[in-house]
Amino acid sequence: MPTLFIEGRWREASDGTTRAIHCPADGALVATVDEATEEDATDAVRAAHDAFENGPWPRTPSPERAALLHRLADRLEAEKETVARLEALDTGKRMVEARIDMDDVIGVFRHFAGLAQADAGRVVDAGMPTVRSRVVHEPVGVCTLITPWNFPLLQTSWKVAPALAAGCTFVLKPSELTPSTAIWLVRTLADLGLPDGVANLVLGAGDRVGPALTEPREVDLVSFTGGLATGRRIMASAAPTVKKIALELGGKNPNIVFADADWDAAIDNALTAVFLDSGQVCSAGTRLVVEDSIHDAFVDELVERAARIRLGGPDDEQAETGPLISAAHREKVEAYVAAGIEEGAVLRVGGARPDDPALADGFYYLPTILDECSADMSCVQDESFGPVLTVERFTGADADGLEEAAVSIANDTIYGLAGAVWTQDAGRAERVAARLRHGTIWINDYHPYVPQAEWGGFKQSGIGRELGVAGLDEYRESKHVWHNTRPAPTGWFGAPQDETSTDDNGTEEHA
Ligand code: NAD
Repeated sequence: MPTLFIEGRWREASDGTTRAIHCPADGALVATVDEATEEDATDAVRAAHDAFENGPWPRTPSPERAALLHRLADRLEAEKETVARLEALDTGKRMVEARIDMDDVIGVFRHFAGLAQADAGRVVDAGMPTVRSRVVHEPVGVCTLITPWNFPLLQTSWKVAPALAAGCTFVLKPSELTPSTAIWLVRTLADLGLPDGVANLVLGAGDRVGPALTEPREVDLVSFTGGLATGRRIMASAAPTVKKIALELGGKNPNIVFADADWDAAIDNALTAVFLDSGQVCSAGTRLVVEDSIHDAFVDELVERAARIRLGGPDDEQAETGPLISAAHREKVEAYVAAGIEEGAVLRVGGARPDDPALADGFYYLPTILDECSADMSCVQDESFGPVLTVERFTGADADGLEEAAVSIANDTIYGLAGAVWTQDAGRAERVAARLRHGTIWINDYHPYVPQAEWGGFKQSGIGRELGVAGLDEYRESKHVWHNTRPAPTGWFGAPQDETSTDDNGTEEHA
């Protein structure tokens, strides 16, 4: 069965290339999919452009667009177990996590369905009784949507749902490692009656199809989630035609723990912050910034608990977290840990592959803690995107100095995606949260998000926002419509002379 979807038809790659998808938990073959060529990508952009210019979708009333999003959510509710399994097999994540992801995807489609109808623009008071002035929203146009492998369908829903809600057409390119739920999504949208050419699916490696998807002038917006290096390339590709871009990139997220924090909650959440999905979460709390006075006891307890974390694949009900996505990614994480140790970090736990033979066929890596880190180390500055926690201490001469030190360490990064602060002093929590230059701040919590709130990064963590209301605005243009209900000449240029003349004082005189 072909897996590229272009102009309402499923087709194979024009040169016949395919790619085998293997489960990272055990190496089992999961699927074989088509690997698009540059030519296929160009066809997909052309189809999306034609559907935008000539098709019905951009002009479909918003209640109908919203209804389609709700029907998609209904379908996912009905097929949740099947789709969660596709996701779990592609990513190696546990079924329990894949099911949570599906619930989140359902929430995202319903959120944007609600927004699609809620905002029809606004009337502006132009200050003239004969003028009707209004600002209306229109779809931005043809969108290229590029997504990563860690939360494949969820990250895709953050783009596809607002694109459809706004009336855009798009080409979706999921990660080449995890295409299965994108295929399900596009098939389901077509099944639900989305017009041909609105949703196009191109599978394949970024360097093979990326330029054809991000350079053409027919593409109005590129929305990308992935690594910083790719984000920079996409920004450069979009520059010659001044495309709109939305970038959700990496993070190096500080988790600040003051000595007065709720101990059990802070310990527990520090582990969840970094080890969820084996650290393959852009907002993972990979930098523990802990007050010096509690450092030793806090880190000892973390080490003890991290050593007990059980690894396993999709159907291991006892497992707490899963494998890394690929052999290449695990090697990257290994190199990152080695560099940290070389630079002086102290390895407290992990730092190796598990020796359990049952895990030998998967890309597992033990939860790892590097202590005694400082801002000049690569392991503190670079994203590992793996199960690796670095620990930095802070101290201060007085209460203000303490807060200042924590903030200064937490902000000492090129990234600015997310961060957390743990303290039972509400005033301190608010002061620190206000100073952190990151797009999401949790106070006495880590990880939760809701589709109603914007998500995105400060600094080099990205441009623009997903979710919330701003997440829809990325896919809309604002148009100001000025309607003069009593048109009249302005008389500004070369108007015929009339009976009106001006006296020496500049005062108009009428005959
Ligand atoms: P990646 O940048 O390698 O790939 C992301 C996507 O970009 C893939 O679909 C890939 O095929 C595509 N791509 C690669 N080169 C391209 C090119 N030249 N042109 C067009 N597309 C290209 O990232 P990844 O390894 O798949 O994902 C991990 C990264 O994603 C991490 O750095 C992580 O922090 C980031 N991420 C960020 C968020 C967020 O919300 N900020 C969410 C998830 C992941």
